[in-house]
Amino acid sequence: SADMAMYAAKESGRANHQFFTPDLNKRASERLWLESNLRHALADNEMELHFQPQFSVDGRRLVGAEALVRWRRPDGQLVPPVQFIPVAEDTGLIVQLGDWVLGEACRRAAELHAQGHRLLIAINLSAVQMRRPGLADRVAFWLAAYNLPPECLELEVTESVLMDDSDMVTTAFARLREMGVALAIDDFGTGYSSLSYLKRFRVDKLKIDRSFVLGLTDGSDGGAITEAIIGMARSLNMQTIAEGVETEEQFGFLARLGCDQIQGYLLARPMPFRELVTFIAEHKDMVEPALPALDEPV
Ligand code: C2E
Ligand code: MG
Ligand code: MG
Ligand code: MG
Repeated sequence: SADMAMYAAKESGRANHQFFTPDLNKRASERLWLESNLRHALADNEMELHFQPQFSVDGRRLVGAEALVRWRRPDGQLVPPVQFIPVAEDTGLIVQLGDWVLGEACRRAAELHAQGHRLLIAINLSAVQMRRPGLADRVAFWLAAYNLPPECLELEVTESVLMDDSDMVTTAFARLREMGVALAIDDFGTGYSSLSYLKRFRVDKLKIDRSFVLGLTDGSDGGAITEAIIGMARSLNMQTIAEGVETEEQFGFLARLGCDQIQGYLLARPMPFRELVTFIAEHKDMVEPALPALDEPV
């Protein structure tokens, strides 16, 4: 890490000697530590998926769950994704990690499906994954591996992916649509995408970012942005889900604005798969499948 700090100090030029600080040194060594441990974590099965339930606004029925990755350290400590996803993206490890997430989420979705629960399982995809060849093939592979109907799966990408009009991304979107997998735009409104991108890629759902949900009741925009997003989604035939809903007041605003679904601590936090199974059992009367029942059991 001393070498790395030295390199950074050189790069930044002679006038910037203050750049070579213990703080940078600490950050550089933390990063190296993360990098090598992340590699081992993947090999040693230290990753796990938690699931956060998603509800219809109308009737507060359980309709799906978002898979969120966590890193369980050998000492039991749970490392949140914000601490390691960026490193995984920079080092390319996200490709391997993302593939594990896909496989594990499909396995769990198939388990729920086999129990008769037709919930939609949402998975986060990194822009790095979308830009690599073979993403659609891997999705097809995992669906087949667990005999999971594609309708059970929703893939979340961020707006930055929409602005990438490379053949790779365009082809991946087209193939995933063809397969019947649902597509959602995560953290919608925080990026720079425009209506034309949304038309071009034809996504199924917009996830309204938590910052706009906070804006509903903190006196900042009074809901103008959220209202505009919901109106736009409706005119383009897309569904909306608001994330980070923590209060009844926020829920009330979203209901009045015509938001379709919500996800947030108000109704449920992310939980391990076993707890999700219990949660579903305890809320049996509240489970409303987002998916129609299939004619034949799979
Ligand atoms: P995201 O996809 O926007 O996920 C929503 C985040 O908001 C989750 O944080 C969730 O725990 C949190 N959240 C949900 N409801 C509330 C609420 O009411 N209040 C507050 N304050 N927070 C709430 P988490 O699990 O720490 O994930 C953070 C981000 O890490 C995710 O944001 C996503 O961008 C990324 N991430 C998580 N899992 C994966 C993954 O498997 N692959 C990739 N590429 N990224 C992932
Ligand atoms: Mg997400
Ligand atoms: Mg989000
Ligand atoms: Mg977010």
